Amino acid sequence: MSFYAAPVAKLIEEFEKLPGIGHKTAQRLAFHVLNLPYEKAESLANAIREAKAKTRYCSVCSNLTETDPCSICSSSSRDSSVICVVEDPRDVVAMERTREFKGLYHVLHGAISPMEGIGPEDIKIKELLARLKDGSVKEIILATNPNIEGEATAMYISKLLKPLGIKATRIAHGIPVGGDLEYADEVTLAKALEGRREI
Ligand SMILES: [Zn+2]
Repeated sequence: MSFYAAPVAKLIEEFEKLPGIGHKTAQRLAFHVLNLPYEKAESLANAIREAKAKTRYCSVCSNLTETDPCSICSSSSRDSSVICVVEDPRDVVAMERTREFKGLYHVLHGAISPMEGIGPEDIKIKELLARLKDGSVKEIILATNPNIEGEATAMYISKLLKPLGIKATRIAHGIPVGGDLEYADEVTLAKALEGRREI
């Protein structure tokens, strides 16, 4: 039996489902929300509702967007001959922050991980291949995370690209092994991009 009133217990339970939030933190967040003036709490609830309702995945690159295609895919100033492949929409933000990359993106929404039962068909690889059919893409930069799953994914995709005659490059290891792309600072990430090598 819960010691809390049912709606409070429910709120704690919902916070606890969030990544990196344990029971104690969930409790703290729930009580913080309950202490807020009504409008503040409502504004938080609305922000969640609106972010969810007004964003979708771009039908071209699978990045999170308000418009479809997204602003990057539909921009005429981007170089459509280069696609940077990343695991997560947050990685697009990290790459954009460097202001070094002028090509397009493709978000895989994960990486191949036999341990977790995630195979190539579970991430957006076939959507990537579909974008390569018209022959306008000359280079694919594999910017998956520098960990086992990210490396395996990069290798897997590079093998698919070989017969298509598309250059596959891997970002350099300025990024600490095991680290996440999104946590790399702009300078490190820009250097990793600049130092990319063909694989
Ligand atoms: Zn897009």
